[in-house]
Amino acid sequence: MDKLIPIFKEKKIRVTPQRLEVYLVLNKNNQHLTVEQIYGRVKEKFPAISLATVYSILDLFKDHDLTREVRIEFDKSYFEIKTDSHHHFFCRQCGKTYDLDLHCEHLQKKAVDGHRIEDFQGCFYGICTTCQQKQ
Ligand SMILES: [Zn+2]
Ligand SMILES: [Zn+2]
Repeated sequence: MDKLIPIFKEKKIRVTPQRLEVYLVLNKNNQHLTVEQIYGRVKEKFPAISLATVYSILDLFKDHDLTREVRIEFDKSYFEIKTDSHHHFFCRQCGKTYDLDLHCEHLQKKAVDGHRIEDFQGCFYGICTTCQQKQ
């Protein structure tokens, strides 16, 4: 917990126990979590926290590059601690999202057709190795 405080200080974010907990949940799981999943885990420690507070903490983290919002399904966002640009693989069977360590020239691009790129993420959809083994 204590080693997180410098991360917040560096980003000039005021440290609150709730913010630390959200960061801890993201960091500990190193997964792609929906806001509801994050809320569920933070609530174990802070029963009074509201979903709206978790949303605003995630917005703050996004603004300071402490988390990344991933759109895998059009109606759903996931959050993760890895903030560098990378692609994903989404398993249609178990719903798990995997980070892909692909060498991809598009991730390096700063502009496309004159449009300035601020973010880019690709997603592959299919059946993951674990689910394939079960078949
Ligand atoms: Zn799977
Ligand atoms: Zn990822």
